[in-house]
Amino acid sequence: MKIETIETTIFRHTTNTVRDSDGHGHPGPQSETQSALLRIICDDGTTGQVICAAAQVQEDLLDRFIRPNLVGRDPLRGEALWYAIYKWQRLGGGRLTDRLLCAVDLALWDLKGKAAGLPVWKLLGGYREKILAYGSTMCGDDLEGGLATPEDYARFADWMVNTRGYKAVKLHGWMPPVPGAPDVRMDYKACAAVREAVGPDIPLMLDPHHFYSRTETLWLAEKLAGLDFAWMEEPMEEASMSSYKWLTANTRLNILGPETMTGKHWTRAEWVRHDACDIVRSGVEDVGGITPAMKCAMMAESFHMNCEIHGTGAGNLAVALAIPNTSFYERGLLHPFIDYDKPREFQNRIDDEMDADGYVHGRDVPGLGQDLDMAYIEGNRVNA
Ligand code: MG
Repeated sequence: MKIETIETTIFRHTTNTVRDSDGHGHPGPQSETQSALLRIICDDGTTGQVICAAAQVQEDLLDRFIRPNLVGRDPLRGEALWYAIYKWQRLGGGRLTDRLLCAVDLALWDLKGKAAGLPVWKLLGGYREKILAYGSTMCGDDLEGGLATPEDYARFADWMVNTRGYKAVKLHGWMPPVPGAPDVRMDYKACAAVREAVGPDIPLMLDPHHFYSRTETLWLAEKLAGLDFAWMEEPMEEASMSSYKWLTANTRLNILGPETMTGKHWTRAEWVRHDACDIVRSGVEDVGGITPAMKCAMMAESFHMNCEIHGTGAGNLAVALAIPNTSFYERGLLHPFIDYDKPREFQNRIDDEMDADGYVHGRDVPGLGQDLDMAYIEGNRVNA
């Protein structure tokens, strides 16, 4: 089996999420956006595919970095293919992103699963058939009835736990340009209100503004420890590993990281080596795919540490189901105005359906398990 064609279908669909001036998503009026279906097709017809952002898989990027490294090669040699592409990052002028590397790696894993007739989460190890999700909120906003006040967060957390069945909740706090943000005291008030609403037994986490100072961060961490929070993630610029080493040494709260810091499994190993985190963070889009995310998880496991998987979607779900040392799947982002459980126009089913007990199950189908409406995607194609 040899890789013959790498192609994308760029297609139109609607979204009800808008980006603020700092790039955070909030509910907004329905508008049109575009996504891509990346497909890697072999000479025998076996095809791996994944949905990704259209900007990540532009034709000139595929021509320069991906097709020369994949076409004509055996798709089952994933490690060799990942390294062949990864090494181009060094002189790629920043254009070969970890997200492009991730999209290609996910499509290759989908292909491998289809060739083997196995779901990817089982190919990777298949530690569990289902995993508890935590409900991960959108960032705070100033929308009436949205996530504008501590009481709003409390009401929404109560719905998540007592109506929808989540067994754990993570808040994203208020961030600029929301008026008054950032403010560790506002963050704390929201966290305290949520703890009050859901009671003592629901694990809670916070992902606040990412540019606090050491002293602001330490104040917040100690307050969250008092509320029995499970962890806090990325409260400071992650390039300063020393600051995280200082924080981890000075607070009782578990600190999770790094999330957005570049450097893949190598960076995560340095953080562990320097005691800069209590829990390792890795998401397929942050590290360049399932292939390096599994290395992060196994590295963490070897130090008796958990590796909590960042972000949603079929790739992250496959890793979370595959490994022993993680506690939750991140499900979101959630907001009172958005029906997360409703499939998008290009999906027959969402990637991460959750049952009434708060579990997301691995699908027993070959590949990544994305259930797509191919007729919709073809019918709304915008590229040639
Ligand atoms: Mg985060």
